[in-house]
Amino acid sequence: QVFLPNPVESSGSAAGLADNNDADSPALNAQLKNVQLLGLDGTGKLAGQYVAINSKARTKSSTLTFNYTRSDNQFEDVMAYYHIDTLQRYIQSLGFTNINNRSITANVNTYKQDNSFYSPTKKDLTFGSGGVDDAEDAGVIAHEYGHSIQDNQVPGFGDSLEGGSMGEGFGDYLGATYEDAVTGDGFGHACVAEWDSTSYSSSNPPCLRRLDENKVYPRDVAGEVHADGEIWSQPLYELAGAIGRDAATKIILQSHWSLTPNATFNDGARAIKQADQQLNGGRNAKTIDAVFKARGLSTN
Ligand SMILES: [Zn+2]
Repeated sequence: QVFLPNPVESSGSAAGLADNNDADSPALNAQLKNVQLLGLDGTGKLAGQYVAINSKARTKSSTLTFNYTRSDNQFEDVMAYYHIDTLQRYIQSLGFTNINNRSITANVNTYKQDNSFYSPTKKDLTFGSGGVDDAEDAGVIAHEYGHSIQDNQVPGFGDSLEGGSMGEGFGDYLGATYEDAVTGDGFGHACVAEWDSTSYSSSNPPCLRRLDENKVYPRDVAGEVHADGEIWSQPLYELAGAIGRDAATKIILQSHWSLTPNATFNDGARAIKQADQQLNGGRNAKTIDAVFKARGLSTN
């Protein structure tokens, strides 16, 4: 059982939901959903085709049944397994069998900070246990998996302020569109990681970041990749709103192969327009021009 994508978004409210030092509550338990774990290797561990969990909890079940509540460290192992596996299957459903098609290691609750990251040297993911355990929120899991996707497509991606910002923006795009796809795009629109952010956000709903801040380049450049990532995530998210998540994600993933590690925002916008030309004969060119132009970016 897992949160799908997180208890704030699935319940439609953050009211009454709090970390409370990793404690269970009836309201949080009510948000647990049963899912099927695919691709398991049969050893009883949470290891399989697209993800292998390395964790503090060393979760193992001889019956391949993994039902825990959030107060158990095993719960986050199940979350990381399920959501990473689901995202890789989604990428393959779009027709790509050559994007991060491997069993990635996810280190879960091995790091005490309220932070998570992808390591380009180890090629693995780490989910911290500070605040709300990061792997209790599929928005955070998808965001970090986004970094591994880009590094797999363009080794060393994000080696500049704008490249790094596109990395953060793409992760937020992947997280927000995954959350929307799971629950229907209503509560939590344009907001990523509603549950994880209850520890540090006072907005309603709480958000790690938003995808509708209307930041404009270069006026709103802050020089920090997560903040500047909001310049990039918004046009991607609007593209998905206009042409659908599947079509948008396919174009965006295709575009990454045209980028270099230190690509600029405008390189990225151009690559997206070119990818649409390549995949769809340029059917979405006007929409692509418009979403980037609104952010001060050019596809020419
Ligand atoms: Zn990130």
